[in-house]
Amino acid sequence: MIKVGINGYGTIGKRVADAVSCQDDMEVIGVVKTKPDFISKMATKRYKIYTTKTENIAEFKNKGLNVEGTIEDLLDGIDVVVDASPEGVGAKNKVMYEKHNVKAVFQGGEKHELTGISFNAQSNYRDALNKDYVRVVSCNTTGLCRTLKTIDDVAGIKKVNATIIRRATDPGDPKKGPINAIEPVLKIPSHHGIDVKTVLYDLDISTMAVKVPTTLMHLHAITVDMIDKKTDLDDIVRALDKARRIILINGSDGLTSTAEIMEYARDLGRRRGDLFEIAVWKDGMNIRDGVLYYYQAIHQESDVVPENIDAIRAIMGMEDAEKSMDLTDKSLGIMK
Ligand code: NAD
Repeated sequence: MIKVGINGYGTIGKRVADAVSCQDDMEVIGVVKTKPDFISKMATKRYKIYTTKTENIAEFKNKGLNVEGTIEDLLDGIDVVVDASPEGVGAKNKVMYEKHNVKAVFQGGEKHELTGISFNAQSNYRDALNKDYVRVVSCNTTGLCRTLKTIDDVAGIKKVNATIIRRATDPGDPKKGPINAIEPVLKIPSHHGIDVKTVLYDLDISTMAVKVPTTLMHLHAITVDMIDKKTDLDDIVRALDKARRIILINGSDGLTSTAEIMEYARDLGRRRGDLFEIAVWKDGMNIRDGVLYYYQAIHQESDVVPENIDAIRAIMGMEDAEKSMDLTDKSLGIMK
């Protein structure tokens, strides 16, 4: 059993903890919380809790919450830590992981340079084999890599242009915005395309991004100039339909927006209404003069969860990427 700790138990951390618990070859030894809030209270029902500093322990005890110790105690008893702390905090935590000789999986809020390996299971699993540190790319980058890798394998890609229409914040966050504005990212190209190239190394891709007042998913509008101009829409549809962690949806079935996709995910009965798969509109695709046009929707809170599980297996030395993804997908009920 791979012994896993989760440092940072928020949107991503709590989902990764639950996904680790579903695996037969790994277990959650503990999760790290900074404050004795309602999330900590919920966490104690499933996991042992640790905290970031000794000074916090009394605060947890005053709220009637049992704490096993500090993060340093947790690190002494695990093989891998999944760092899902806020953007930039992971980089500061790395020194501590090095000191305790513990492997770490970081998230997309950290810079590629922190680990030198950025990860998307379908694209470059083997590059992370036996590494000490790996970074799972962001939710947007994960979505772009999944579909573009699939299309590249079928048709070859000359050039990609994509516009990322980003959710303002996650549903549980009452603070961030905008709540009544549309905010373009003025730095062009946006960082998303640059990030894709940390995984799909040779891809020619440029991205722009716009933030909009919603909490329900990101949406990508993508154009792909294909090398094989004879590729037709059926070839692309077949490939996307077969590929892992991608689902084809239809506006004609009433799935015309991210709101309806999230309703569909809730109806699937998944914990927290998560959609681990990237949803691509089959009836919103077209090819004109060798250029493929498509839209995809990304559930920002959950698409990186299966990637974290595979990243753990890769750094722990499981050589067979397909086997890891099979185990992950089966355990999480990922559709295919
Ligand atoms: P979050 O704010 O929901 O959760 C972070 C958690 O870490 C919170 O519970 C916070 O209390 C805790 N924390 C704060 N300081 C800490 C510290 N010093 N040590 C340990 N924990 C600490 O954030 P999130 O959305 O889960 O993001 C985590 C990482 O995942 C970031 O790198 C982010 O960029 C990345 N990511 C986020 C999303 C998303 O859409 N939410 C998607 C993909 C990747």
